[in-house]
Amino acid sequence: MSTTAYQYVDGEWIEGESDDEITVRDPADPDDPIAAFPGASQAQARAAVRAADTASASWAEAAPVEREEVLYEVADRIDAAQDSLAETLTREEGKPISSSRGEVARAAEIFRFFASQARTATGDTVPSNDPETFTYTVREPLGVVSLITPWNFPIATPSWKLATALATGNAVVLKPSSETPMIARRLVELLEAAGLPGGVVNLVVGAGSTVGDELTTHEAVDGVSFTGSTATGQHIAETVAERGLPVQTEMGGKNPLVVLPDADLDAAVDTAIAGAFGGCGQACTATSRLVVHEDVASEVTDAVVERAEGLSLGPGMDDPDMGPAVSAAENETNAEYVEVAKDEGATLLTGGGTPAGLEDGHFIEPTVFGDVDSEMRIAQEEVFGPVLGIIEVADFEEAMAVANDVDYGLSSGVFTSDMAAAREFTRRIEAGVVKVNGSTTGSQIQMPFGGMKASSSETTKEMGKRAYEFYTHEKVVYRSDP
Ligand code: NAP
Repeated sequence: MSTTAYQYVDGEWIEGESDDEITVRDPADPDDPIAAFPGASQAQARAAVRAADTASASWAEAAPVEREEVLYEVADRIDAAQDSLAETLTREEGKPISSSRGEVARAAEIFRFFASQARTATGDTVPSNDPETFTYTVREPLGVVSLITPWNFPIATPSWKLATALATGNAVVLKPSSETPMIARRLVELLEAAGLPGGVVNLVVGAGSTVGDELTTHEAVDGVSFTGSTATGQHIAETVAERGLPVQTEMGGKNPLVVLPDADLDAAVDTAIAGAFGGCGQACTATSRLVVHEDVASEVTDAVVERAEGLSLGPGMDDPDMGPAVSAAENETNAEYVEVAKDEGATLLTGGGTPAGLEDGHFIEPTVFGDVDSEMRIAQEEVFGPVLGIIEVADFEEAMAVANDVDYGLSSGVFTSDMAAAREFTRRIEAGVVKVNGSTTGSQIQMPFGGMKASSSETTKEMGKRAYEFYTHEKVVYRSDP
């Protein structure tokens, strides 16, 4: 395979044929590109869908144990390559190398979890009204599923879509983010090496604007699973829904962490820091609003500022507390939001600038704003960077109102030792994930994951034991003896 062959179509690695150039840069040292190659053309995306269509029937008919074995093999190969995969991930995405190692290990865990579903994802046997009639349901693969993924968890997110789709007998076309094609290619190489038949997995690395429509509107596509921004996700959801096909869109967040006066404040501050600045704030579940009761607001604010100022920054390969933003564009957005927040009257408590000595990369200091009102843009819009707004509230009712006062509804958290308050928060929060005394970030593979409101299209959730539902049709059978 040539170093610029990033497209994997019908079992062959080929060069892209579009005029779009995909350039990969180290976010900590972006001047010299680490890879540059032509992106896929529309015709190549079409060929990938057709290849998946041709391959889908035999993969659907493969014995579940055969699919299971391949996916376990993928997991073993990911584990065996953990260090070099982590390095690839850090070099193109920027996150600290220990976080990349953790993400790679998680990808292997994901393949193992869904490998076991190849044999167990199934329908139900249902009691029949008629003793002569056997009533049951079966789950059948959709056929061809397009998987469109973002850059921020560039091996974990493709892995959970791939593993679920493949375990349940679908053929797929993966379209990763143009920011992180190298780790996507390495993952697909491992799938190939593990024995997936040609055409069952296809990789299309190209600009969303060039290949996206083909992957969502081609007549052979039977479903689309997307993770990314709300703007792109809503466009895709509308396009696919018009065709009456299953579409899953996991999108942005504006996640609140509420701190009540009876909370363990040290734990709350630790959690807020990790949730806001881990991964440079580039998680859909990042803590971006710290909603603090006025009785503890100044103590919490002082501790958050002190902790933010103590974080180490640097290239991901040096394993700092916080690495760079993924791209110049993302870092410009971060800087713009700092100005927007100042203009709207929020108080910049720390950060907001470029850290000394790191001017060459896409770095910004961990940034904390005080005096934030819920209607400010900094409290409403997803920044997707290390920018935390602290909103002071008078009581639990105001905390609830503020927490729910956004279009998004992905993740949330509350810190309290009052379990009645925790129960009330859990009941009333408009978010798909609720953590009591825990971070808005982080999830366990065996738990479903997904949002509400503008964060998710609310079909079926990803991950967890029912993730296979999205990738399968339910057929309802009444079988009577002759
Ligand atoms: P994005 O710009 O929406 O891109 C996501 C993917 O969609 C990329 O592969 C992109 O390709 C592709 N795309 C762009 N335009 C398209 C089109 N017209 N048709 C089909 N595909 C198209 O998002 P991002 O900047 O990569 O990721 C950050 C966002 O993801 C944040 O909003 C974050 O909250 C969200 N996110 C959500 C979750 C969740 O589970 N809820 C998890 C992680 C991230 P190109 O790269 O070529 O443009």
